[in-house]
Amino acid sequence: MPSKTILVLSPHTDDGELGCGATMHRFIEEGYTIIHIAFSICKDSLSAEWVPDTLAIEAKKAAAVIGIQQDNLLLLDFPVRQFIENRQLILDELIRLQKQYKPVMVFIPSSTDIHQDHGVIYVEAVRAFKHCSIYGYEMPWNNYSFSGTTFIRINENNLQAKLKALEVYQSQQHRNYMQPDFIQSLAKVRGVQAGVLYAECFESIRIIQ
Ligand SMILES: [Zn+2]
Repeated sequence: MPSKTILVLSPHTDDGELGCGATMHRFIEEGYTIIHIAFSICKDSLSAEWVPDTLAIEAKKAAAVIGIQQDNLLLLDFPVRQFIENRQLILDELIRLQKQYKPVMVFIPSSTDIHQDHGVIYVEAVRAFKHCSIYGYEMPWNNYSFSGTTFIRINENNLQAKLKALEVYQSQQHRNYMQPDFIQSLAKVRGVQAGVLYAECFESIRIIQ
C-alpha cells in the first residue's frame, strides 16, 4: 500500500502553516498523516516581552488547530540565520526523517525563496528526498518570482483552520503577511486560477506518481 505520510518542512515555526496550512488540514481530513518538522523555534528573533520558548508553545497550539497529533510535531532548535553553518547536520536529520517516515509527499520552501534558512532547507531536502514528490510552498514576501504549477483545492473549513492556526501565533501578529485578509485573498487568487473558490499553490519540484 502506498505511504499515506506527508512531511511538511518548516525552516521556522509558522512557515508550514503559512505555506500549506489549509492543505495540511485537507489531507488530514482525507486520512493522511502529517508530520510537521520545524527546524528552529527562533528563540533569538523574539522581542524581550516574550519568553524564549514562546514559538514552541504557539506551534503546538497551531498543530492542534490543524489536526496534527502532538507526537507528529517535531521542534528542532537550529539558530535562526545559521542554517548554512549547520547544513550537514540538517541534511543528516532530513535523511533520518526520510528513512523513518518514507513519505509520499514532502512540502518545502520553494526554489526561489530568498530567506537564507529557507534556501538551505530547499537545497538539502531536494537532496534527501529523491524518491517522493516534492512541492515548494508559496511565500510571496520571500519570492521575487514563483513558478506555481500545482494547485491544491481547499474548502472553507480548510481555510478557516489555516486562519485559526495563524491566529495562535500571537508573537508574530505584527507581521503584515499574517493578516487574515491577505491570507484569504491569496487563497482566492489561487482559487480563481484553479476554477474553485479557494486553493493553495505550489511549485512542482519533483513529481512521482
Ligand atoms: Zn521562515
